[in-house]
Amino acid sequence: MIIVMKAGAAKKDKDEVLKRIRELGYKPHVIHGATRDVIGAVGDERGKLILQSVESMHGVESVLPILQPYKLASKEVKKERSIIRVSDTVTIGGKELIVMAGPCSVEGEEQIIETALAVRDAGAQMLRGGAFKPRTSPYSFQGLEEEGLKLLAKAREASGLPFVTEVINPETVELVAEYADMLQIGARNAQNFALLKRVGQIHKPVLLKRGMSMTIQEFLMSAEYIMSEGNQSVILCERGIRTFETATRNTLDLSAIPVLREKTHLPIVADPSHGTGNYHYVAAMAFAAVAAGADGLMIEVHSDPEHASSDGPQSLKPSKFAKMMEKLKLFAEAADRTL
Ligand code: PEP
Ligand code: MN
Repeated sequence: MIIVMKAGAAKKDKDEVLKRIRELGYKPHVIHGATRDVIGAVGDERGKLILQSVESMHGVESVLPILQPYKLASKEVKKERSIIRVSDTVTIGGKELIVMAGPCSVEGEEQIIETALAVRDAGAQMLRGGAFKPRTSPYSFQGLEEEGLKLLAKAREASGLPFVTEVINPETVELVAEYADMLQIGARNAQNFALLKRVGQIHKPVLLKRGMSMTIQEFLMSAEYIMSEGNQSVILCERGIRTFETATRNTLDLSAIPVLREKTHLPIVADPSHGTGNYHYVAAMAFAAVAAGADGLMIEVHSDPEHASSDGPQSLKPSKFAKMMEKLKLFAEAADRTL
């Protein structure tokens, strides 16, 4: 249910309402609006009608049901778009288009530092790189793990770019959060509910990728898992879904971007690298994603794609990435964004 407070309601009235919501067995989430506060009360759907009694309390304007199965992620609870702070220099969801770029996997110190400097010089605002890799085959490179996190931190120091890196299980969430500016939940873990709950309890933004066969509603329900634990800093990432088409690795579902913009206040990033699986198609789909309304892009970049430990075929060389960034400025401007 949504409890809409009156404009200018006293703090003590709000505190009483929060107390009552908790007594009734629900978890209150306060959303500060421009003129009034709104409280999302989430919990067992079956008893939600007892929350209606809150309507008679001081300072309460109305109590409304939230119609969507996802609550905190929905536009019903928060109409204005969320702007999520990643670091002193980066926020996602505002006017500035945010580009996070780097290799699929961190492979070594020189590789990650050189790539960080190259993508920064081309205009990227964030570095990406996997230290824990969720590979389809147990025989494929699994990542440098904590050593990879240390190298990412070095690359951040050298370049000034904050970084996003993937966390693949609940046990390593704290470790990854110690190093990373933003945690990534990959497509293969998008419905790993224990992991989603765990990253819901930390105070770092989470980039949640869409699962390969997830509907948009299921995607938003996964975001809800994170948010219902307290962490409201969730960024959604469309990275392609599995269809009957085999000419591309996945089918980048660009129509999901305007649909998501209608359904949720959360920022949306597109990943045309995993979305196509082929470096030839990455720039075109990056431009299209910006036209569709993406708040950011995730792009894989590798200086020697032929010898990359993972995802070489879809990685842009730094020079190609720089060319794409040049052209991207025009698309960003047309979409009323800065870059
Ligand atoms: C990645 O970002 O390298 C990755 C593994 O992505 P996804 O989970 O979208 O496959
Ligand atoms: Mn990859």
